[in-house]
Amino acid sequence: MKKINWDSFAGDSDILDYLRGLPRYRNTMFKSGFSRAKFFLSLLYCRLFKIDKPLFIILVTNNTCNLKCTYCYGQYGQRENYRDFSTKELLKILDELKDLGTRLLTMHGGESLLRKDIGEIMNYAKLKGFYISFNTNGYMVPAKIEELKCLDAVVVSLDGSEANNDNNRGKGCFSKAMEAIEVIKKNNIPLVISATMTKNNIDDIEMLGQLANKIKSRVQYHILYNEVDLRNGCKDLVLQDHEIRG
Ligand code: SF4
Repeated sequence: MKKINWDSFAGDSDILDYLRGLPRYRNTMFKSGFSRAKFFLSLLYCRLFKIDKPLFIILVTNNTCNLKCTYCYGQYGQRENYRDFSTKELLKILDELKDLGTRLLTMHGGESLLRKDIGEIMNYAKLKGFYISFNTNGYMVPAKIEELKCLDAVVVSLDGSEANNDNNRGKGCFSKAMEAIEVIKKNNIPLVISATMTKNNIDDIEMLGQLANKIKSRVQYHILYNEVDLRNGCKDLVLQDHEIRG
């Protein structure tokens, strides 16, 4: 893809018009697998020849979120006064990452789907050749499903049964996450379930595994760790060593 001078555009709305005119990236299992293989080969190459490259990057697209999960490490529900990257800034970051050799992007917010330009940003990133894993709480997935079709993996947060999930993440989150999962599966987009394990849902490990098995997806378990200064409100949810090992 040819290099674009983003500064030559009058503003973000002109940039968006340009992005909308780009071809839509059509992902397939083969293309996605190839892109992932390129990441692992690059990793191997860099290890062998001791080359430092940011092959894997976590790109935080915005500071806002439509949820207020009890354990949110970034307190995204309370970041109203933070400034987000403009469209131009994000595109420049993507170009720079590409030049630096980045292969794999994990994109998340806050909730990235709150960005109005996120579909165009993701399409551009795919046209640039990144492998993209995209994290979401699922609320806006049905409305934005067309924009997610280019991705290599959509990671939906789900912590377990309705009661336990909603204890962690807020009332109604379970049904929204399940709705998102259903729509993602229906559209054949690779899905990963992401579960944060706390005292509320530690008994749901098996249930989540069974669900993932049933819908043929993967599940990632994360252990909530203690950042008491950041998240004083949820210190009681952090698992003790014996609970994690047990
Ligand atoms: S969905 Fe994610 S970013 Fe939003 S409040 Fe919950 S943990 Fe934080």
